[in-house]
Amino acid sequence: MDLVKLKSFLTEQNLPEYRFRQIVKNYYSGRYLSFDQMTDLSIDLRSKLNSQFSLYSVSEEKIVGDQSTQKALLKLIDNQKIESVLMNYDEWITACVSSQVGCALNCQFCATGKMGFIRNLAPQEIVDQILYWNQKIYPSFVGRIVFMGMGEPFLNWDNLLESLKLINSTEGLNIGARKISISTAGVADKIIEFANLDTQINLAVSLHSANQSFRETIMPIAKKYNLEELKKACLYYVSKTNRQLFFEYALTDKNTSQNDAKLLANFIDSHHLFFVNLIPLNPVEDGLNCATKEQQEKFMNSLNQLRVMYSLRRSFGQKFSAACGQLATESK
Ligand code: SAH
Repeated sequence: MDLVKLKSFLTEQNLPEYRFRQIVKNYYSGRYLSFDQMTDLSIDLRSKLNSQFSLYSVSEEKIVGDQSTQKALLKLIDNQKIESVLMNYDEWITACVSSQVGCALNCQFCATGKMGFIRNLAPQEIVDQILYWNQKIYPSFVGRIVFMGMGEPFLNWDNLLESLKLINSTEGLNIGARKISISTAGVADKIIEFANLDTQINLAVSLHSANQSFRETIMPIAKKYNLEELKKACLYYVSKTNRQLFFEYALTDKNTSQNDAKLLANFIDSHHLFFVNLIPLNPVEDGLNCATKEQQEKFMNSLNQLRVMYSLRRSFGQKFSAACGQLATESK
């Protein structure tokens, strides 16, 4: 729903200012599927709104999942499709949102990259993924947001910032900055811009290897922003914000040797604000192989010896391809 257009439409109809606030509040409440259900508006206004606006820019095509993880395939107004995931196993219910249709980065281990880049999502299309889940689980609601769905958020910069405002503002979804996390594949100049925003939003960087030549083979973006430049940007971020920075590291059979652990320790350089999130690689067609249990154990032992702080991320949703790196839409 285009709020600017809505405001001018209501003014044209000579309706008082509070009607706008009322509709916006209804919209963000997650209670309504359509204007027709907003019984606090006159029937006449509801039908006018119906003819001029669509309440949501996303509609459900398919939903799969279980108690802890659900994945929705959502159709956009131009018939493009995205996926969005709801995770319900922590203190807060978390929505994992997409920022683009497809992705341009083509990381070798990620299903989204294999679709190629189709288009950026508009701010409303990002927000509507959360409203979709709120409406689905009402009266429960999404308490945390992670930008870890399809796409590279930092390559959809303006719309990302606009969506963050709507998510964060008290008139919008009113979700606190510290409950929002953004993950980037390592767009170094945007990491610096992000640090300069002075926000408490969490940042994660997909590192996956601290070996420049290998990282280039699995993440083409590493050619544009090499490890040295990436590290500089990350150091700038932690010094500017004094916040922890998370490095995602998917465990494969090719980045878990003792030497890989040493390179990672060297990259982290005992920085007290650098933290590593290990993720056992989720299977993707034509992707890399997950490290065996033994390789994972050995790698973690090496990290212990090298005093690198890390945690091992539990993986959910593999059964229905809803886990990290498994979101794609073309075959569905
Ligand atoms: N483009 C951003 C946002 C995607 S977030 C980024 O790269 O950070 C999705 C996270 O899942 C990223 O850390 C990504 O590297 C990771 N990922 C991708 N494919 C994966 C896979 N097959 N197994 C585990 N993690 C994967």
